[in-house]
Amino acid sequence: MALKIVTEAERCLQCKKPMCQQGCPAHTPIPQAIALFREHKLMEAGKLLFENNPMSLVCSMVCHHSAQCYGHCVLNRKGQPIQFYEIEKYISDAYLDRMTTEGKKPWNGKNVAVIGSGPAGMTVAFELAWNGYGVTIFEEKDRIGGMLQYGIPDFRLPKSILDRYKARLLELGVKIRPHVVMGGDLMIDSLFRDGYSSVFIGTGVWRPSTLGIEGETLANVHFGISYLARPISYTVGETVAIIGMGNVAMDVARTVFRHGARRVMMFQRGSTSPASEMEMEYAKLDGAEFFFGKSIQRITPEGPVFKNSVLNEQGRPVGVEGEDELVKADTTIIAINQRPKDKLVNTTHGLEANERGLLIVDENKMTTRPGVFAAGDVTHGSLTVVHAVDEARIAAAGMMKYMEENG
Ligand SMILES: Cc1cc2nc3c(=O)[nH]c(=O)nc-3n(C[C@H](O)[C@H](O)[C@H](O)COP(=O)(O)OP(=O)(O)OC[C@H]3O[C@@H](n4cnc5c(N)ncnc54)[C@H](O)[C@@H]3O)c2cc1C
Ligand code: SF4
Repeated sequence: MALKIVTEAERCLQCKKPMCQQGCPAHTPIPQAIALFREHKLMEAGKLLFENNPMSLVCSMVCHHSAQCYGHCVLNRKGQPIQFYEIEKYISDAYLDRMTTEGKKPWNGKNVAVIGSGPAGMTVAFELAWNGYGVTIFEEKDRIGGMLQYGIPDFRLPKSILDRYKARLLELGVKIRPHVVMGGDLMIDSLFRDGYSSVFIGTGVWRPSTLGIEGETLANVHFGISYLARPISYTVGETVAIIGMGNVAMDVARTVFRHGARRVMMFQRGSTSPASEMEMEYAKLDGAEFFFGKSIQRITPEGPVFKNSVLNEQGRPVGVEGEDELVKADTTIIAINQRPKDKLVNTTHGLEANERGLLIVDENKMTTRPGVFAAGDVTHGSLTVVHAVDEARIAAAGMMKYMEENG
């Protein structure tokens, strides 16, 4: 591996206008990082990457590289783009355990609350702690990481990485309160009462979208997002039907195969899948079968029942036709989408959401409640880690500006 990444780094042309960087939503300074790596300045390269994106190690493993750095590299024209993510993984992996708190600003007397410890919350915590703010993270779950911990399967992102992130946060003086539901156990108003100068919300989208059809409450029906949080709690049997074909559904398919399923069938109403090509390839490799143009009608104890979709020219479903078709399955898993929970909006004066329940923010990521900022999935629905990080950095800057201007 080391040899391969050294060769990869040597191939980089050090472009003046790096297309790779333009293709990265976090604008990672790729040529500079590669140059430092080539000079054996591993820690400097790590610092550069971490300061631009504290989740660089995670991103090197889970980003959609072919649509981003890799896909934009100028050497694509020759069919040999640089696999920067492999170089990034090596650098960031080494740096995460060796980084120090040298350069961290001393406490400036101000405290901030971060609600949610996903990539958005962790990024804000790193930025603000580094800049001298006292940071407390309030997390509903047992462990930090959000969807990195409870969504993306271990075989794609080892959870031990999140323990290493936690150790770095604690070293920076960040306090973590697990098992606290904000908007349930504690309120945002109580945070201001207790002297927090600003609040960040990075609570993501954790409510599974339902189909609203007969059979959804049966014992053999589960939601993909809940299943992924703890697969060992479920007994899925040998044959599993998955409704939905997005990236989350692909992770569900690959996970059930690793928990006893022998046959996994995936169903989509239209003629295409919203999942990335790579995620589909892996699911196919694991043995998942794809069925397009199938509209779910109801779910029975024997399995889901479909009708064929009537598709328009774009392959979108516009109706159904034909007879009901029962697909025999021990378990049916619904993995169509996620929405935000509404606890915080319902309990926080002045905090407004749009019709989809997503928090409304301005260009600095401030919500409709002054001093309360938000970023990541809770502001736009399920997207990606790198987008959550990029927006969280804007929010952190907005919070610091707000606190400077408001005492
Ligand atoms: C199965 C799956 C696979 C994915 N695969 C990829 C991938 O390969 N690549 C990629 O880039 N992205 C992927 N994503 C998307 C990515 O994980 C998310 O976009 C990203 O995690 C969003 O970050 P976030 O910080 O906004 O929210 P989250 O990661 O959802 O974190 C929110 C945190 O807030 C906590 N919380 C919620 N409500 C409260 C409350 N009231 N009080 C206290 N805490 C609360 C939650 O417990 C959680 O820890 C995947 C998502 C899923 C579900
Ligand atoms: S576009 Fe490719 S060759 Fe050019 S700097 Fe980026 S990684 Fe190197």
